[in-house]
Amino acid sequence: MMKKVIIATKNNGKAKEFKEMLGKYDLEGYSLLDLKEPVEDIKETGTTFEENALIKAEAIASQFNLTVIADDSGLEVDALNGEPGIYSARYAGIEKDDQKNMEKLLLALSGVNPEDRTARFVCAIAIARPGSDSIVERGTCEGSIAKEQKGTQGFGYDPLFIPSGESRTMAEHTPDEKNSISHRKNALVKIEKHLKDL
Ligand code: IMP
Repeated sequence: MMKKVIIATKNNGKAKEFKEMLGKYDLEGYSLLDLKEPVEDIKETGTTFEENALIKAEAIASQFNLTVIADDSGLEVDALNGEPGIYSARYAGIEKDDQKNMEKLLLALSGVNPEDRTARFVCAIAIARPGSDSIVERGTCEGSIAKEQKGTQGFGYDPLFIPSGESRTMAEHTPDEKNSISHRKNALVKIEKHLKDL
């Protein structure tokens, strides 16, 4: 029988990516959208991406008594001492508003030269198992912040993020191109080595 793993996301795109990877290891992934029982509200009180991914994974693992995989991601801008960091989704306020977040970022970086606009996307992926130690791994995607938005693909800060060695923003990359270089992909590669032992 295939072992069940809960994927701690309500995002269909993310769930699909995780399910495909788990399938290779005879693990059957269920997203929070697939579960019948509601998940208790989890406060992300950590100060790092890793802590928040672990908090989510461990809270759900103890509620369902199953193995759980969870991620936490965001953007770190060097000229802003790593901001918006773990607050990336709500940088411009309470609501998750990508456009307002990008406007706030451009304003914060106005007057900052191209060579000083370095940044990275970060993704931490955690696995929590009842009765065993948790695992967490980090993937990054290095780049810089453009002076203006370009492109319509992706989400979040993609129209402002130019991956290193590229002239196009992430939002000008196809989904396949993005998935081959993204922070999430790099974290998935690192977490993958643990899946055979679950
Ligand atoms: P979450 O961890 O997927 O909820 O992402 C948190 C926030 O980080 C998002 O709302 C975005 O603002 C930002 N973010 C994370 N990953 C990406 C990405 O791949 N592209 C653009 N923005 C991202």
